[in-house]
Amino acid sequence: MTEPQINPWSSTPTLDVEKTFAEFGIDPIAPVLPELPEVPYFMRRGIVVGQRDYLPIARAIRNHTPFHLLTGFMPSGHPHLGHLMLMREVVWHVQQGANGYVTIADREAYAVRGLSWEKCREYGKEYLSCLYALGFEGQTYFQSKNSRLKDLAFEAATKVNFSELTAIYGFTPETALAHADSVITQVADILYPQVEREPAPTLVPVGIDQDPHIRLTRGIAHKFRMFTVEEREDYVSVRSKNAPEAALDAVKKAFPHAKKYEGHVDIKGAACADVSTKVRDIERACGGYAFYTPSSTYHIFLPGLTGGKMSSSIPESLISFYEPEAAVRKKVMSALTGGRMTLEEQRRLGGEPEKCTLYLLNMFHMITDDAKLAELHRKCRSGEITCGQCKKETAERVVAFLKDFREKMDVAAETIEV
Ligand code: SF4
Repeated sequence: MTEPQINPWSSTPTLDVEKTFAEFGIDPIAPVLPELPEVPYFMRRGIVVGQRDYLPIARAIRNHTPFHLLTGFMPSGHPHLGHLMLMREVVWHVQQGANGYVTIADREAYAVRGLSWEKCREYGKEYLSCLYALGFEGQTYFQSKNSRLKDLAFEAATKVNFSELTAIYGFTPETALAHADSVITQVADILYPQVEREPAPTLVPVGIDQDPHIRLTRGIAHKFRMFTVEEREDYVSVRSKNAPEAALDAVKKAFPHAKKYEGHVDIKGAACADVSTKVRDIERACGGYAFYTPSSTYHIFLPGLTGGKMSSSIPESLISFYEPEAAVRKKVMSALTGGRMTLEEQRRLGGEPEKCTLYLLNMFHMITDDAKLAELHRKCRSGEITCGQCKKETAERVVAFLKDFREKMDVAAETIEV
């Protein structure tokens, strides 16, 4: 069987973002940005580039209405700068009002990477320290310790079969059952905030390689619904998918102008949003979950310092948060840049920042001021700065950032019990 193009466990270094978006129906985020009261730097700079149903999230931010956020980290090694973007996106949305949830996907690390539970706890604690160092406020949990999550995963598993998992993930007859179980646990993670609190729009910020989990969960959330609500020309139709007759009766009773037919209720003179809200209440009263279909955003990846993916399996490609200072400097000074072969060419032609791992490191994390970043871009393109000088300045920024960040992580670590 051919492996699907996006695979959450693959070490494929890069994806063609536009092709992947077109193939899997991911929309660009730019058209939704005017809905946000404030556009964060990672959206302004084209780091978070794609979305599914981000509009309800942007409106919830603008209107101060409830919404959730859930993301997860697989504790398969020490966290590093490649994980920082997602953490920043999480913290920003929580600051905008999201009920924040972060799962440590230790069941996935155990099933897919073969890590011991002890290592999962150790690495998981480091991820949580990073999040709290950035100012995260919300709920965090380890998958293996959350019994409510495991019950929800079991229920979600009744909505999917192996053919679907094979189509989405490229599973084979040799795929371990625990691997499939870790997938359904992640589905439950995504739905969990709506069970633990209340049904509400839920954002799942991810890297594009995690889109299979989003697609699977959106489908399962839909399967859990008892009704569909559709706006027609001059009425709203509420159709039963698997609702008990009493629930359909309750829908009719809730609206004075409703007419009940075989399997559906049509309502004249009501707003679709009002009907949807009421129908969710009725679903919940009848024992359903009334899930909102989860929304998602997609960020591009910070490339590794050697080019390709920043990956724990290539130590030279990454900088971990506890990397010794000398190693940080050495890695930055050896990084792959967009510089020319000779100094003379660099002065004459300028560098190519878009191809430079260090420019991108500065763009993602090290230079938060847009004007300063634009200045670096200009100096690089004009050949005014050499790569040697630029590397030294970047190394200083990274060392200073890590020193401050580690202190915050250490303080946070003291408060985390695993
Ligand atoms: Fe990269 Fe800086 Fe060299 Fe430009 S000058 S290519 S940004 S290292």
